[in-house]
Amino acid sequence: MRWQTIEKSPGADALAPNLADYERTRAGFSWAEARGELDGLPGGRGLNIAHEAVDHHAAGTRRDHLALRWLGANGEVRDFSYGRLAELSNRFANVLQALKVGKGEGVFALTGRIPELYVAALGTLKNGSLFCPLFSAFGPEPVHARMSIGEARVLVTTPALYRSRVAGLRERLPRLEHVLLVGGGAAAQDVPGTRDLDSLMAGASAEFVIPPTDPEDWALLHFTSGTTGRPKGAIHVHAAVLVHHLTGRYALDLHPEDVFWCTADPGWVTGTSYGIIAPLTNGVTSIVDEEEFEPERWYGILQDQKVTVWYTAPTAIRMLMKYGDELARHYDLSRLRFLASVGEPLNPEAVVWGAEAFGHPFHDNWWQTETGGIMISNYAAMAVKPGSMGKPLPGVEAAVVRRREDGGIDTLAPGEQGELALRPGWPSMFRGYLHEEARYEKCFAGGWYLTGDLARCDEDGYFWFVGRADDLIKSSGHLIGPFEVESVLMEHPAVAEAGVIGKPDPMAGEVVKAFVALKPGIDPDEALRRELLGFARKRLGAVAPRELDFQPSLPKTRSGKIMRRLLKARELGLPEGDLSTLEAEK
Ligand code: AMP
Repeated sequence: MRWQTIEKSPGADALAPNLADYERTRAGFSWAEARGELDGLPGGRGLNIAHEAVDHHAAGTRRDHLALRWLGANGEVRDFSYGRLAELSNRFANVLQALKVGKGEGVFALTGRIPELYVAALGTLKNGSLFCPLFSAFGPEPVHARMSIGEARVLVTTPALYRSRVAGLRERLPRLEHVLLVGGGAAAQDVPGTRDLDSLMAGASAEFVIPPTDPEDWALLHFTSGTTGRPKGAIHVHAAVLVHHLTGRYALDLHPEDVFWCTADPGWVTGTSYGIIAPLTNGVTSIVDEEEFEPERWYGILQDQKVTVWYTAPTAIRMLMKYGDELARHYDLSRLRFLASVGEPLNPEAVVWGAEAFGHPFHDNWWQTETGGIMISNYAAMAVKPGSMGKPLPGVEAAVVRRREDGGIDTLAPGEQGELALRPGWPSMFRGYLHEEARYEKCFAGGWYLTGDLARCDEDGYFWFVGRADDLIKSSGHLIGPFEVESVLMEHPAVAEAGVIGKPDPMAGEVVKAFVALKPGIDPDEALRRELLGFARKRLGAVAPRELDFQPSLPKTRSGKIMRRLLKARELGLPEGDLSTLEAEK
């Protein structure tokens, strides 16, 4: 079915879109000039994300403007003005100073969406240390792998998460010196090897001067998955703030009086770039909800908080669609002005449903951990082609390419399918994978950064997502590396081989499915299947497989690599493709 383009009529919106003339802005754009939109540290001492996000506003007319409203799971509401956020993040930076945590050193957070997470992020950036948020639904194994690769020196967490995810593995984290527990009151005071963050904060000064920060100083570490090997820690620098800020204006169309709600968790890059940084640099009010998705709660937030700009993800949109427009109509959603989505393919039905249920289409946009910010987007003033990711941000050159045998790159014509590539040079591009130079270098060829996604571009310059070029799995917006899941399954004494794929799912996009071959003499049965699922769940948390099948042996290449592609084709009843490298199956 062909979906009709959703045209935008100029002047229909009460507010003029920030990017009113895409082509003209794009033609005249330069990053050097755009830099003028940022404040910079006083006295020409450089560029620091936290200064742009809070101190800059706290020192000006927006000091008392509501920066962050936190909605607790239990109904509690806590408000933080720009001035208050500046003061709290100063305190956290002073706590780090007192602990002698310096520039570039890893400060990790493993918490739910609580105010302390936001304060810790900003305070760490002020101190020039490297902030790494971890997803609290991860089990102990993914937490350990990331803290060990990232050489975490400080961890901010809660007593419950510490006990269930970290305490048992602490000996295997020799670099982890300080564990700061949040909100535990008395409970936080009796956990051996930890300190109570609340008392450290209370004793710290509320004044802090951000030290000189080079735009190339490391700021954020975000882990992403690979098809092979351990998770990769993508390094981002303070210069990235220009992209956060500008995409907040261009792609999310933020205006000063907006109330913005990004539903992502900071454990995923979207929840940091757009759940913390972009709304604050743009001086708007940002809503943070501690709870997980629940349709009535979400509609209630949109209504009661008078959300004007909403940035969410396809899985949530599909779940809301399931409840129908009827539920949406019970709420006054008239304040909503701009809707955006990211993280997985957004079906055209969902774009159109947005227009029907909310009076505005969802604007899909595309980016990834490595790009640090939105790269391709449907903009407020531009016609939306349902199903398309939109057009490259001004300042970003995107193309669909094919790698030649000789290592060169061919750019493909409109309509042809290939790998999505970006010309390096935008400020929020990752500067490396921590300790993984070779994996970093493999991302580049012929002057392009290769994204690992397959796409095509149409005659009008809109990009369309086709799929992943590798075996990575996208489940409810989380990018999951099959290797990490397979490695945990292999630790079970009954397992000889494990192969993991993403199985299409109408709600989550994909779910993780595992195939397991057992050791000789062990027979598969339902009890063992459940045991293996539970074993994986306990260690991996949210990224564990949902389904598991036994097979006598798994298809492998002659070099011994499990052919996930073939497992997937067989699971889906699709053609098996080129089997020339398949080892004879037993
Ligand atoms: P992550 O690094 O975890 O944010 O995942 C990035 C990956 O998510 C991309 O490489 C894509 O495969 C997928 N992705 C992100 N945004 C979109 C989108 N708008 N449409 C389709 N896939 C997307």
